[in-house]
Amino acid sequence: MSNIVDLDKKYVLPTYARADVEFVSGSNARLVDSEGKKYVDFASGIAVCSVGHANKRVNDAICKQLSNITHTSNLYYIAPQARAAQKIVEASGYDMKCFFGNSGAEANEGAIKIARKFGEKDGEIKRYKVITLQHSFHGRTITTVKATGQEKMHNYFGPYPDGFVYADNIEHVASLVDEHTCAVMIELVQGEGGVQPLDKKAVQELAKFLKLKNVLLMIDEVQTGVYRTGKFLAANYYEIEPDVVTLAKGLGGGVPIGVVMTTQKDVFSAGDHGSTFGGNFLSTTAACEVVDILNEIYDSGELQKNIDYFDSELEKFYTAHKDIFTSKVGIGMMCGLRVKDGDTLTKIIYRAREEGVIVLKAGRDTLRLLPALTITKEEIDEGFISLNRALNSL
Ligand SMILES: *Cc1c(COP(=O)(O)O)cnc(C)c1O
Repeated sequence: MSNIVDLDKKYVLPTYARADVEFVSGSNARLVDSEGKKYVDFASGIAVCSVGHANKRVNDAICKQLSNITHTSNLYYIAPQARAAQKIVEASGYDMKCFFGNSGAEANEGAIKIARKFGEKDGEIKRYKVITLQHSFHGRTITTVKATGQEKMHNYFGPYPDGFVYADNIEHVASLVDEHTCAVMIELVQGEGGVQPLDKKAVQELAKFLKLKNVLLMIDEVQTGVYRTGKFLAANYYEIEPDVVTLAKGLGGGVPIGVVMTTQKDVFSAGDHGSTFGGNFLSTTAACEVVDILNEIYDSGELQKNIDYFDSELEKFYTAHKDIFTSKVGIGMMCGLRVKDGDTLTKIIYRAREEGVIVLKAGRDTLRLLPALTITKEEIDEGFISLNRALNSL
């Protein structure tokens, strides 16, 4: 490990405040570090390892594909890309088409390009404004960082693209729509912002209003998507019909992939958008297998059972530590506990790791839990035993 720390410090740009641990292997919701210490993983690589670590079905599918071909570029047909698109669209229940990229930010860039092109061709004047929410998170590229409604992230990197407008909350969005607005982009459960679900009625009313105004409703499901909330999309849970949806984190089970999908099937023509790596054989083979596995555990009821059990244990944990936590938040396997103060949260995350359970922070004051959707009862039990030990020793 120390050699790796030295290498990292010498050759990798210091953009991450890394924890002092190096994981070397994993299995479902368990991890092992370079010293051989074992952990339960309640973070799954920030909602990425949706079917757990070292998933045999995903690994077998990838290995089989890679023994034939990994990459050809999008100048040619790619069988697993077409199949992944079909699986994603069918699981969503929406009449959409997909574009494949490599990350959440790239998916959201695609969404913003769709919105701008839609605003160009639709109507007399150019519509270009995209409304997003305060406390949102949409990515780290220059455009998606500007789309992110967090003033503190807009230092240093300007000038930024124009046209992003921030609403204080979901109820405030409609009042900001004007003749230049082409889209509204929101997370239904704000992830980085603190695991904050939006009010369902307010979202449904906004969706109706935007349809009337011919303004696109774009849902950033980079974190909420692919069954994280218990349904394939959080948009399914909210019972709305969005115009654009973006996916990334949980879709490839750890292989980088991003998708923007839309009902605007002919907004782009050949040459309007592209991505060299996007949708290649590796990432889309992984996505096909991940979606198959999760469709199966959704259909069998196992996913809901896992969610219910995790939630009941989280509720017990919350009740036992009301001196530290103020509320329980989230939907499905995207959950959190609000902590009374941020310093305590930092200590909890550190102590939890010492006790052998990996948890995350969101916003200033939220302990965030994003376990693998395939997490077992034993893993959940062990994780909460460790978490309790961590809390009791604060
Ligand atoms: C993580 C995240 C992103 C950015 O995804 P990257 O793959 O890091 O570019 C965008 N939107 C939401 C809601 C996210 O949680």
